[in-house]
Amino acid sequence: MPIRILPPEVASQIAAGEVVERPASVVKELVENALDAGAKSVTVEIAAAGRTLVQVADDGAGIPSDELALAMERHATSKLTSAEDLFRIATLGFRGEALASIGSVSRLTISSCTPSSFMGARLHVEGGRIGRLEKTGSPVGTVVSVEDLFYNVPARLKFLKQDATERRAIDALVTRYALAYPTVLFKLIEDGTVSLHTAGDGDRRAILATLYGVDVSRQMLEIIAEEDDFKVTGFISPTALTRSNRKEITFFVNGRWIQDTPLTSALLQAYHTLLMVGRYPMAVLFIEVPPEEVDVNVHPAKAEVRFRSPDKAFSVVRRSTRRALLAYTPIPQLATQNLWGTSALPGQVDPTWSLAHDIGGEKQNQENERQPGGVDPQPPITNLQSTKAHIPLLRLIGQIGATYLVAEGPDGLYLIDQHAAHERVLFEKLMAQFVRQKIPSQSLLTPAVVELSRSSAELLNTQIPVLLHLGFQVESFGQNSYQVRALPALFAHSDPAAALHALVEDFEEDESPLQNEIEARIAGRVCKRLAVKAGQVLSPEEQHALLADLETCTSPRTCPHGRPTMIHLSVDMLERQFGRKGAR
Ligand code: ADP
Ligand code: MG
Repeated sequence: MPIRILPPEVASQIAAGEVVERPASVVKELVENALDAGAKSVTVEIAAAGRTLVQVADDGAGIPSDELALAMERHATSKLTSAEDLFRIATLGFRGEALASIGSVSRLTISSCTPSSFMGARLHVEGGRIGRLEKTGSPVGTVVSVEDLFYNVPARLKFLKQDATERRAIDALVTRYALAYPTVLFKLIEDGTVSLHTAGDGDRRAILATLYGVDVSRQMLEIIAEEDDFKVTGFISPTALTRSNRKEITFFVNGRWIQDTPLTSALLQAYHTLLMVGRYPMAVLFIEVPPEEVDVNVHPAKAEVRFRSPDKAFSVVRRSTRRALLAYTPIPQLATQNLWGTSALPGQVDPTWSLAHDIGGEKQNQENERQPGGVDPQPPITNLQSTKAHIPLLRLIGQIGATYLVAEGPDGLYLIDQHAAHERVLFEKLMAQFVRQKIPSQSLLTPAVVELSRSSAELLNTQIPVLLHLGFQVESFGQNSYQVRALPALFAHSDPAAALHALVEDFEEDESPLQNEIEARIAGRVCKRLAVKAGQVLSPEEQHALLADLETCTSPRTCPHGRPTMIHLSVDMLERQFGRKGAR
């Protein structure tokens, strides 16, 4: 094919693809424009998760009528005049691309009025074709309505996720901007219902409460730090408050929401040794630096920035958050008292446990497998069978460190992780009942009322039918509150609030698996949360019951998440270790 210049419609759709990926991107661009215009009040209205309507109204400076058509053109901006300006940008927008891009993939109407004019004007754009300017009487400010996003790019429509997911992205976006701009009044209306309404009075903690619920927001630690030109403010979770992924870590740099930033690692380093492996903090941090310290022109959707001195940014974040953490949360001492009378911090390995750790350490295992008979001078002392197999009948000896059961089998010693084992037992019982389509459910004498954050509540709403299947009876009880009326009988003695939180936490929003996968995953999550914990002393009866239950499992050797439930020290291996066998 000969080389050709692309027709303008094609070129503009390609360009639009970089900026407008989903309804939430439209919301982002329009909200940013409103903030750039100095709005004190921003109202976002969406219908059908933004597919049919995204409308953003503001009371900002407005656009003069004679510039309205120009604003819709590509590379038309009032925020940048020269290339040097690019390196000291104080506005959120600067490329002059958003309106043109959105207008090329939707039916857009913009009306605007400046404080100095009597009349405003309105313009309609459809698939990039700009209509005639009409004079209108309108209040000062700008309203942009985007209807039928991607109506002319059906391929894009196919990439949109379920409505609940798209809505969650919009919610997350508006709430985070509300947090970043607490003196601006934000209102989010979804299908006619107001789902967020901030006061615009500067109270960030109040907005945090709408994001995470009152309880969590109260516990979050406030950060206020300044080093040279770097200012860090915001909130981080205390060490007791964690998540299983990094999704609740938010960074704003100079008023911009930045994603996938190395700053996340700085934050995680601050929590180093304070959190269990696989747990992550929650954080909303706002970093202010002089505009010339950051390059904002590195990402099409402006979701990344580059710092002139990245190390500095990194260390300021790490230092300030670590300091706050240590000030508020002393490092836990004597977290667990084990049999040897020494103590270990959670997540750390006590020296006396190093043997057990080496045996159980998954990493070591893999290494041994990778280099059979390799550099390790010691014979591998691992005898951890990963194949799914029944376990032999075991004789219980007792519990150690309130964490492991010790048992004797026909061929040596077994150490059983009580939490992992119980998780496995609960999971298999629940799934067995589930397959038989009858999960016995037990009503609570007094239903428990649990308050969730708005996004968790939204998630829960989508899962209520699944939960009924699993034996949970959960009912809405006012805004974002739920009443747990019944639990699966298996969990009858568990804390209903913990159960409910386990149901909504960590839901992977980007996956839309098959129904039965969802169910298995929810079941796994609940079992994990409600299984006995390490550090919980079990009565001899409970120990026996757990072991007996484990023996009946189909896959007793791993927990539902694949970690081992037990370590086997064979007679042979013990003899070797004690020098009773083999030349040493
Ligand atoms: P950019 O924000 O990068 O300048 P946009 O395409 O988003 O590009 O907007 C183009 C121009 O339209 C802006 O520079 C601004 O002058 C004007 N504009 C857009 N939205 C608003 C608004 N809500 N209030 C006032 N002016 C606006
Ligand atoms: Mg813009």
